[in-house]
Amino acid sequence: MPRADHSISRSDISENALKVLYRLHNAGFQAFLVGGCVRDMLMGLHPKDYDVATDATPEQVKELFRNCRLIGRRFRLAHVVFGRDVIEVATFRGHHQEEDDEQTAKLSKRSDEGLLLRDNVFGSLEEDAERRDFTINAMYYNIADFSVADFAGGMQAIKAREIRLIGDPETRYREDPVRMLRAVRFAAKLDMKISASCGDLIPKLAPLLANIPPARLFEEVLKLFMSGHGLRTYELLQQYGLFNQLFPQLQPLLKKADSKESQLIRQVLINTDERVNQDMKVTPAFLYAAFLWYPVDARCQELQAEGGISPLDAFNMAVNDVLHRQLQRIMIPKRFSLPMRDIWALQHRLSRRFGRRAYQLLEHPKFRAAYDFLLLRAEQEGGELEELGKWWTDFQDADAEGRKALLDSLREGGVKTSRSRSKRRRPRTKKPVQ
Ligand code: ATP
Ligand code: MG
Repeated sequence: MPRADHSISRSDISENALKVLYRLHNAGFQAFLVGGCVRDMLMGLHPKDYDVATDATPEQVKELFRNCRLIGRRFRLAHVVFGRDVIEVATFRGHHQEEDDEQTAKLSKRSDEGLLLRDNVFGSLEEDAERRDFTINAMYYNIADFSVADFAGGMQAIKAREIRLIGDPETRYREDPVRMLRAVRFAAKLDMKISASCGDLIPKLAPLLANIPPARLFEEVLKLFMSGHGLRTYELLQQYGLFNQLFPQLQPLLKKADSKESQLIRQVLINTDERVNQDMKVTPAFLYAAFLWYPVDARCQELQAEGGISPLDAFNMAVNDVLHRQLQRIMIPKRFSLPMRDIWALQHRLSRRFGRRAYQLLEHPKFRAAYDFLLLRAEQEGGELEELGKWWTDFQDADAEGRKALLDSLREGGVKTSRSRSKRRRPRTKKPVQ
């Protein structure tokens, strides 16, 4: 498509992306925008990041840019870094020959199930297009003449509003099962449907996700739920039998759509989508804490039913068990799992709010997140939790006098607090509020 036949103008493209394209071009390399940014611009959307494809090798890219890092092993590429903005520069990928020759075997590797373990054979632009996942993601904007190359019928698919894999769907899913998650992600984000030949296979092949390293799934899952279309994505993941692969401990609790567990997941996603769309901060810690709260709760009750264990110990063990199992599937870095633990632990501490403790809790770095989560639970469960949530809302809003009055009211109202009974009669550990 020559410049006159498409809608992409240079003013739509970020300055940093243009810088990268022009420097590659001026050094005599081919340079294209590719993937999501081209697709989004052609659909009239604003791209959130820019990917570049080139015939320069990662090393050649590194020589051209001082601010360049080479990353990835499975898929080696260059990141050109401008502060917080990163332009991803990938060398054209080529076909994988039979792995009889030693050189190729080093660069590309498949498992017995057809999983592509390494994809570092370089090739031509046309070959690169064939290695891309979906037809809508295989369009290239050429900085040399501002044309768009569409090898796989991406424009047609945009018009038909269909997500279609390039090549044989089963082979392409087996090469990289993450493509199943990507199909769902794009369907939700772009409000498109997954073509029948690509969608029908997903429930059958979903278990292949078990072969994906948990670290890679962490990134993918963030994109699934934190890009502003989380609820729709969740519904599609359920429809295609993928959600269970990501959160196997949660799935048994979601059998009924109107259960409190299902409602909580939906609500946290609705809230997350709202925040993303208003450019407010969202953290995976909150989302994961919400997703895994009921599995922790269920495990805690199971442990207590077995007997011989205090409620607090049962709770701590349940937290460890559930996190441990989840980490087999999706890696959660410590910087998120620690705040998750805080949010969970605070759910119990928020009900013990006598005297100084209430003030101390307000100062806790995770108080706000824990309070928000408490309100979310209260919305599903009502009753005691609703009162507790309201008390904390009032307590935060009140002045010094008001706070004192609120604390006094606990005693008068006979609400159980940590010191409302004599110390000796109080059990060392309190039963958590369920
Ligand atoms: P987003 O809007 O989320 O950035 P995107 O399409 O740009 O969507 P990226 O993950 O940034 O997605 O990938 C950039 C491009 O790289 C894709 O458009 C696609 O062409 C190619 N690609 C990414 N992941 C895969 C994959 N697993 N298999 C094949 N091609 C892929
Ligand atoms: Mg992208």
